[in-house]
Amino acid sequence: MSPPEKLSVVVLGGGTVGAQVVRLLEEQSEDLAARVGAPLEVTGVGVRDVTRDRPGIRQDLVTDDLAALLDTGPDLLVELMGGIEPARELILRALKGGASVVTANKELLATHGAELHAAAREADVDLYYEAAVAGAIPLLRPLRESLAGDRIRRVLGIVNGTTNYILTQMASTGASFDDALAEAQALGYAEADPTADVGGFDAAAKVAILASLAFHTRVTLDDVDVAGITSVTADDVAAADQMGYVIKLLGIAELLEDGTAPGVSVRVHPTLVPRTHPLAGVRDAFNAVFIEADAAGQVMFYGRGAGGTPTASAVLGDIVSTARNRVAGSTGPGESSYADLPVLPIGAASTAYLVHLRVLDRLGVLAAVAGVFAEHGASIRSMNQKGEGDEAELLILTHAAKEDDLAATVTALRDLPTVAEVIGFMRVIGAGQ
Ligand code: NAP
Repeated sequence: MSPPEKLSVVVLGGGTVGAQVVRLLEEQSEDLAARVGAPLEVTGVGVRDVTRDRPGIRQDLVTDDLAALLDTGPDLLVELMGGIEPARELILRALKGGASVVTANKELLATHGAELHAAAREADVDLYYEAAVAGAIPLLRPLRESLAGDRIRRVLGIVNGTTNYILTQMASTGASFDDALAEAQALGYAEADPTADVGGFDAAAKVAILASLAFHTRVTLDDVDVAGITSVTADDVAAADQMGYVIKLLGIAELLEDGTAPGVSVRVHPTLVPRTHPLAGVRDAFNAVFIEADAAGQVMFYGRGAGGTPTASAVLGDIVSTARNRVAGSTGPGESSYADLPVLPIGAASTAYLVHLRVLDRLGVLAAVAGVFAEHGASIRSMNQKGEGDEAELLILTHAAKEDDLAATVTALRDLPTVAEVIGFMRVIGAGQ
């Protein structure tokens, strides 16, 4: 088969990301043609509202008839609408029609990835989605290709810029969660309805995608244990600081091999990160993903996780890759799920805790508290005490232990008569792990 003279590209979505993708396809058309080996021609841009002014997009390309755009039989479909439907249905139609698909839709990939991959495999076309996780940061291709010969142990990611901005503000100004969120909204870092970000769900979709690639196993959004940052208080931030930590919302995907059969743990929760860890220095709305692999050791990816132009960079990279494949008459690597590992509940994971207690300042209290930890197989790594008078505050850092055992320790501490209050507890990385 002779290589195509040109490749037609349909873009669905002309919003924050779509508009930048169309602009860059136009502005860089000569370079892109040289890199691909054939010109890329945008033949249509699908939107909801055709009357909206869209600088950088030729008006004659814009339509709200998305089905008609697919009927033109494009070589490439670039989906930048977001949401599950109609994106899912349109992508499936395009794949079945022989188009290669590029998308930035994390929600769709994290819920219907298997179905989309199967359709791409059947049609022998590409399905690429680099922009779905951590915007501009090259991450999925390194996982799928550069690290394909290694054995990945753990992926730790700051993959939501909004929550990282809020936590950075809380740490640097002592602000409450509500005040930091209001500021993030005023600056455009957080949406009017911030639930997907602050509830951890956006990060959960991304970590599901990362876990699937890292462990060659299908992991969906439903498999992810999620806790957001809404309950993180200024006191928690101050307590973390006192012990040498910063609080980050981490997406964690790790291989667990200490049980009878290996499995993976995939979770999102506020996590204490030692100030010396590279992830602690990731501030404001930046993203970073830290990977631990057997042969490579530690590898970190850092950059802008969102924004129209940075995200468009990742989309353009996928467009060039898949267009090159079409010119060569080949396809890139597809889904790899051969390992098919079980996704284990959070209780099976090993972690460390920082427990913050208010206790009655009496003789024997420390021994009683330490006894509860020992009884549940959780060993204490360090303890700080402050306060005078009838009550004192204790900050207790544990060694790594089973999450189930640590959770049981906290429950038992609540029942201890000398403990006035369990002010809070948070998971910690880097403490003997
Ligand atoms: P956006 O600004 O809201 O744009 C969405 C575009 O899709 C709009 O042009 C909208 O049309 C169109 N659209 C939505 N539903 C449609 C429908 N049912 N029929 C026709 N057109 C429809 O979204 P975005 O921020 O560009 O995000 C696009 C995708 O990129 C999402 O999957 C998102 O998760 C992902 N992403 C975004 C970022 C980021 O920084 N923004 C970063 C990484 C990944 P109208 O313009 O007419 O409303």
